[in-house]
Order: sequence, then structure tokens, then C-alpha cells
Amino acid sequence: MPEFVFASYSELRTSLESGNTSVKAVVQSYLTRIKNHQSINAFIEVFEESALKQAERLDQKLAEGKPLGKLFGMPMAIKDNIAIKNKKLTCASKILSEFNSIYDATVIERIEAEDVVILGKLNMDEFAMGSSTENSFFGPTKNPVDQTKVPGGSSGGSAAAVSADCAMVALGSDTGGSVRQPASFCNVVGLKPTYGRVSRYGLVAFASSFDQIGVLAKNSEDAARVLEVIAGEDPKDSTSGDADVQNYANAISEFTMNGLKIGVPKEFFTDALDEGIKSIINEKLEALKTQGAELVEISLPYSKYALATYYILANAEASSNLSRYDGARYGYRSQAHPDLEEMYVNSRSEGFGDEVKRRIMLGTYVLSAGYYDAYYKKAQQVRRLIRDDYLSAFESIDVIAGPTSPIPPFTLGEKLDDPLAMYLADIYTVTANLSGVPAISVPAGFTSQNMPVGMQIIGKPYDEATILGVSQKLQALN
Ligand code: GLN
Repeated sequence: MPEFVFASYSELRTSLESGNTSVKAVVQSYLTRIKNHQSINAFIEVFEESALKQAERLDQKLAEGKPLGKLFGMPMAIKDNIAIKNKKLTCASKILSEFNSIYDATVIERIEAEDVVILGKLNMDEFAMGSSTENSFFGPTKNPVDQTKVPGGSSGGSAAAVSADCAMVALGSDTGGSVRQPASFCNVVGLKPTYGRVSRYGLVAFASSFDQIGVLAKNSEDAARVLEVIAGEDPKDSTSGDADVQNYANAISEFTMNGLKIGVPKEFFTDALDEGIKSIINEKLEALKTQGAELVEISLPYSKYALATYYILANAEASSNLSRYDGARYGYRSQAHPDLEEMYVNSRSEGFGDEVKRRIMLGTYVLSAGYYDAYYKKAQQVRRLIRDDYLSAFESIDVIAGPTSPIPPFTLGEKLDDPLAMYLADIYTVTANLSGVPAISVPAGFTSQNMPVGMQIIGKPYDEATILGVSQKLQALN
């Protein structure tokens, strides 16, 4: 069977419309690659049958000359915390390992209306808590660039699947960096839209005021096409925003670096940053300057509190969101349940993994009477200061640029016993979630050990078009 790998969706689209290939042949080729890459463990479930059926339906539609959706025939895969009707929705947790969704997330309705083919559900850290995809009930995902390394997390399955050409595009979720950091580790593009840009209806809640569905793709243009489809107000999510949705693919094709002001925060270039990554990022910044951009050194003084603030607030919200898993309403119920109270305790003790339990305990602690003011309330106040840092910086610049991760992909198992070291991986990504602004990670090069390096571009609220534009220019330099 021919191997179909396309440089971009538009190439696939041209090939389909000119009759050079069929959706079915393309989907078969992706399914074969998924089988050949089982060792990376990117998928929790593969929808072989429904994907092939959908492919046949789409081929029929094309043959009949009917109007084709914006993402016609695009082979996509979905992080397993996004609901698809009548499919499992595990969040990579034992507690939901047998749970089936009874409805579609809004993003699923929107992509299906534009004729995508959904190939399956992707591995992740349990309930999206983690930076390495090692906290999965279904075992860790491996980085396709080097299988001894982690793919990043929590959307590690999404990044690995795209990187290994097992899906053209994947949806992930980003609460503190979970789309961008794995994108950077697996050498793909990862976009976290503005908070509110994409409906969270049907995304299993981790930390509701941070969570945002994002897109992982090989290039900015594909990410732009998918964003256009999934973005926009949704009456089912009262936190979704009503800002106009653009044709992002057009916007980036007209984008120029001329006169763009790029803020470079000095807080992103400290000793915590790996030297190899630092020099690659500096090189790219210089290259953007040659293309007409202006580099402006800026300061985001409250960044140093970002990690602490994030881990207090995200865990507080998580402890509340995860209280619904009690063995009665959802998923797994312990066999040992002498009374109601013990049924709750045992179901949760047996159903959740260690990291999830750690977060629930931390979150409950910071919300408890006596500690609420010292931790939760204080962190809320700092969150506002961090957001103000960003918004005032954006009064004089257009985007902020820096590294996505302070370190290159690390070895599987290396940080499992050291949660704080794991949390440090999020040092440059959490601020965008704390302040709600959009951000993207773009492949920027490789370290001397041949490990991928991602560059992060952070934008003004609802200005995804500009960060996608910069991202496309950056990729063109590679
Ligand atoms: N790594 C971060 C965490 O563990 C971010 C997770 C995410 O964005 N879902 O909380």
C-alpha cells in the first residue's frame, strides 16, 4: 500500500480533489502507521472501523459533487479528555477506564461538520496532570524522536501521534502548558488559544479557569485551519468569548514581520534555561530581526511567582472538579464498600493515581479554612498581577517570544520521583494560562544531542492570527 504523508493539509486536499487519491486510501495509510508505531503508545483507542466508514462516506460525497467541508478528509486524533458520543472517555484514569460519553464536545461537533476523519483517542497524563505522559493508567507514551525520552505532557499522545505521522492534526488541552510543552518535545507546532476562544463544553474539567483546547499540527497553516473551525462562541460554555473568528490561514499567508515588535522578557533567559536551548532561541530571534522585526527587552517581574501561583490555583480548582468522581455518579466503583463513606473513599483511593491524589490533597489544603487566605486568596491576587504584567507589556509590543521549555526532552522515569522537578518544566508556559493569553510553540531546531527545541510566541488576547503568522515565518527558517 502506498504511504501517504503530506506536508500540509492543503496538499492532501489538492490530491483528494484532483482524484489522485481517496480519503479511504489515506486513512488506511494512517491506520497502518498507527499499527507500526504501537511501541510509542500514543493511542488509547483506535477507531479503525468508524474511521474507514467515515472515509467511504466522504469519498462518496466527493464523487457526488456535493460541497466539501473546510477540513474534508483530514485525519485527526483526539486527546482522551474530550468527549465523543458513544466512545470511551478515560482521561487516562482507572476511575474512568470503562466510562462512555453520552454526548459530543462542541469541538467534535464542529470538526465533524467540516468532514474530518477521527482516527482515535490519544494517551495523556491522568486528568491532564503532568508534563511527561508518564502518569497514564495505560502506560507512558514515548517520544517518537527518541523512544528513551518522554514526549512531554500532558498531551504527550497528541504530540507523539502528529510527530510520528499517525495523525495529521491532533486536539489536546492546555491548562499550564500541556499543548505547547509536548509540541516542543516532539518537534511539532502546538497552539493554545486565548482562554474563551474555544468552547470547553465536553472537555473534562481539570482547572476550569485555565483549561483551553488546543491544536497540535506539523505546521502553522494546518493549526490555523483547525482553529478557524473550532473557535467561536458557544451557548453551552458561558466562558466562551464572542470575538470574531478569522480565516487564520488567509491571515498568515498575508502576514509580514515588517515592523513587528517582539518583546523578549529577561525573566525567560536566566540560569534555569538550558544553554543549548538558549542559543537556538537567540539565533531565531536574530533571524526574525533580519526579517524586519524589532526586538525589545521587556520585564515581566511577577513571572517568578508564576509556578507557585499556578500550582496553588490549578490544584484548588482540580480538587473541586474531581469531587464528582465518587464511585456513584461516574466510572469505577470499589468492590469493597461496607458503607457509603467507605465506598467513596475506596473508589477514589483505588481509582485515582498518585499524582492526581497529590493534587487533590494540595488543592483541598489551600482551600481549607485557616489556609484559604494565605494560599488561595493570595494566589488569586498574584494571578491578577501576572496578567497585568502581560497586558501592560502588550501596550508597547505585539508579541512576546522565548523558549517553550527550560530543558530538552528528558529520559523516561528520570523525574517520576521528583514532582517539583517535573513542575519546573512548566516555568515558561503557565503564565499564558494564568493571564488567559494565546501562545504557540514552534519547532526551532535541535540541541547538540539531537533533541527538539520549541520556541514560544505569546500574543495579545484573541490575537491568534499574529502568533500563527510569526510561527509560520519561524518554521520557514528551518
Ligand atoms: N504540566 C502542567 C500540570 O501538570 C500542565 C498540565 C496541563 O496543561 N494540563 O499541571
